[in-house]
Amino acid sequence: MGTIIVIGLGAMGSATALQLASRGHRVLGFDQFTPPHSYGSSHGQTRIIRQSYWEDPRYVPLLLRGYELWRRLEFDSGQHLMHITGGLMIGRAGGGLVGRSAVSAERFMLPHEVLSTEQVRRRYPAFKMDDDWVALWERDAGYLRPELCIEQQLGQAVMAGAELHFDEPVMEWNALPTGDVLVRTSRQTYAAEHLVITAGPWAPQILKQLNLPLRVTRQVVYRFEPIGSIDLFRTDRMPVYIREMEEGQPLLYGFPLTGPDSEGVKVGLHGSDEFCSPESVDRTIRPADERIIRARVAEALPLLAGRLLHAETCLYTMTPDEHFVIDKHPEFSQVTLAAGFSGHGFKFAPVLGEVLAELATGGSPEYDLGLFSTRRFQDLSLAS
Ligand SMILES: Cc1cc2nc3c(=O)[nH]c(=O)nc-3n(C[C@H](O)[C@H](O)[C@H](O)COP(=O)(O)OP(=O)(O)OC[C@H]3O[C@@H](n4cnc5c(N)ncnc54)[C@H](O)[C@@H]3O)c2cc1C
Repeated sequence: MGTIIVIGLGAMGSATALQLASRGHRVLGFDQFTPPHSYGSSHGQTRIIRQSYWEDPRYVPLLLRGYELWRRLEFDSGQHLMHITGGLMIGRAGGGLVGRSAVSAERFMLPHEVLSTEQVRRRYPAFKMDDDWVALWERDAGYLRPELCIEQQLGQAVMAGAELHFDEPVMEWNALPTGDVLVRTSRQTYAAEHLVITAGPWAPQILKQLNLPLRVTRQVVYRFEPIGSIDLFRTDRMPVYIREMEEGQPLLYGFPLTGPDSEGVKVGLHGSDEFCSPESVDRTIRPADERIIRARVAEALPLLAGRLLHAETCLYTMTPDEHFVIDKHPEFSQVTLAAGFSGHGFKFAPVLGEVLAELATGGSPEYDLGLFSTRRFQDLSLAS
């Protein structure tokens, strides 16, 4: 059995290395930094995990398997990675967010309830919503601890025999006509039978020749101090949530209090039109960032309008339809790609690790991966 190289050991790469090594493959992994780190897409202490997927019901089978694998990683590592708080999708009655979440919930019989504004006010008093709005409550939603998850995936991968090189950037890769690959790093050149590329927001650079329509955006997350009692933001009075805002505005998402009171309560906006690269992104927090989020918080969670305690930037890698790219390289069958997670990939890391391991070793994953194919972009360019 030949070597399989994984480029990028963040959320997806660490999961893939673990899956491959656990199946007895020889794995060589590279990262330009030492994950978990805060230069890519996987930092910030919390990530929402949920199942009533408004993005498309075809994600649900992956999510159900993802929950099993997160639980298995918790068992194997002895760490508490996944915290179930319940989740609310809040929006206009008949609107996309709640309606599409309900389609996934009903199709897969996921435990959920549709709540009126009055019911939300009684159970979760921190939320402000119009009288004619609704919310889909999902029992099994919650949050993951991303840095800890990556740390454990890497640790388990090493225990399973993976050889991981940190602070060793990959400068170049080549697929040879012989069917092998060569990977040149800052230290030396390595040969392998297969290559898996999971480079997060660096994907547009390392996959440049493919010309995939990937765009990296600057995202900011914030932690606010509540005004009045912080108790309304504890997990017994507040679940994770995603909320529609005014027409055309990005969704607001957030978490209950997940750390000490002094850390504040985290909120963010899903998406932005500030395009950048990991090198060019402005990581300073500007007065305009705070102005915008304060306006949204005033609309949705007025009791969270206290001091801004912390803010930091992170990166999304967007595709035009906001679905992932998980596929074999269209030209080189010895190369497998995972990119374009469009701000919602983290919760899938272990199941996508499993899928990528299958693809890399000639297997056929049992999921409908058509949604993630690189071919859809050819169709897109033909249509335009
Ligand atoms: C603010 C924010 C909030 C989010 N919220 C959620 C959420 O609530 N739920 C959810 O499911 N998802 C969420 N996401 C999305 C999710 O975090 C990402 O989809 C996921 O973390 C992407 O993982 P990745 O492995 O592709 O990238 P990363 O974890 O960034 O890993 C890529 C790795 O590749 C390495 N690399 C790149 N190029 C090279 C090279 N040439 N040589 C060596 N190494 C290289 C990098 O150093 C990096 O470690 C959020 C993202 C952000 C930014």
